[in-house]
Amino acid sequence: MRLRSARSQVRFLPGALRREIRPLLRREIRPLRGHDDLPAFGFRFPLLRPTPAEPASAAKCDPNLEGAVRLSGVDVTARIARLELAETFVISRDSTDFQEVVKVEIRHGKVSGFGEGAPIDRYEETAESALAYVEEHADALGDDPFALDEIEHRLPPREWAARAAIDGALHDLQGKLVELPVWKLLGVEREGPPTSWTIWLGDPDDMARRAARAVDFSRLKLKLGARDGLDVERVRAVREVTGASLQVDVNEYWTFDEALDALPQLAELGVDYCEQPLPAGDPDGPRLKAASPIPIYVDEDCHRLGDVAACAERAHGINIKLAKSGGIREAVRMAHAARALGLGVMLGCMVESGLGIAAAAQIASLCNHVDLDGNLLLADDPWPGVEFSGGIQWPSERPGLGVAASARA
Ligand SMILES: [Mg+2]
Repeated sequence: MRLRSARSQVRFLPGALRREIRPLLRREIRPLRGHDDLPAFGFRFPLLRPTPAEPASAAKCDPNLEGAVRLSGVDVTARIARLELAETFVISRDSTDFQEVVKVEIRHGKVSGFGEGAPIDRYEETAESALAYVEEHADALGDDPFALDEIEHRLPPREWAARAAIDGALHDLQGKLVELPVWKLLGVEREGPPTSWTIWLGDPDDMARRAARAVDFSRLKLKLGARDGLDVERVRAVREVTGASLQVDVNEYWTFDEALDALPQLAELGVDYCEQPLPAGDPDGPRLKAASPIPIYVDEDCHRLGDVAACAERAHGINIKLAKSGGIREAVRMAHAARALGLGVMLGCMVESGLGIAAAAQIASLCNHVDLDGNLLLADDPWPGVEFSGGIQWPSERPGLGVAASARA
């Protein structure tokens, strides 16, 4: 049926439903024409079809409306998945052999979008708390998977990994509905900088051995902060075995004096920048920025858009992670805000499957530095589809996030 017919019928609907449907009809976009097999959604007339009774959770219905003309809703399901690492991962405050993540599926008709969030202990988020958040607030997603701002406003501002999973699933769903990869929907370039490869914290010789094996990577990120006086030795040992670009991440474990001592030595060893040398919020942050011979990037200091301006006082750049920002949409805002303040932009990750990495890879081209090796650290990635080639984590050219679950997922 033609859209014009749909518009002419809208005036016979009750007021509340009429107000909801009119803006949706105005959204009709050309790529969906000729795809009548696609599920009904806001900008195509078939959503105004008479439907049999649906579960209350799956559809929003005006109880005053006889004849049941209604919008299709979305169905949300979530679960916890355990990702096994290829090797034990060690940083200054933790070591682990696995990561638990929350996976979200948002189904709209016959099309499903998938997203993943990796809760961060440091911020008192767990897979269980993330799962509970998704289950508690599934109804807040409403009927329109394109209404990202409205959905964001309806969701309580907490549990950012859970929100990243929801945001990723909505982007995946959008891309599949309009048959475009998310990076193209966002209007950004596909190619981002090459990813770094993380050399987790160990003895200097051990870190050097692992660095020497990382021949597929042009940039290495060394985890420091052992508080044993050997951090500079770690970097020196690695420098002796590789010509790769080096960056270090201290994960908040230096004091101001330790940082003042180490940073000039790291500069001599050719380290490009240092991530989070001081604890988040440390009052000496601005002094260290002024004194450091290499750029300071902050990670634990910078979660969301509202943090970016304050970071400009204590750092030369920020590390954006979807598990902190709550997803792609806020991450894009942060990247642009950082640029406006003259800050460098780094895109990081947690230990995640290809599903989580695929979401971040969509916006890698907005960043100066990319650290998206989470899926490469796994024993077996259950969501293949991100292509690692030439040192770059390429987002797929398939619709949505462009990854699909393997039989093991
Ligand atoms: Mg970090």
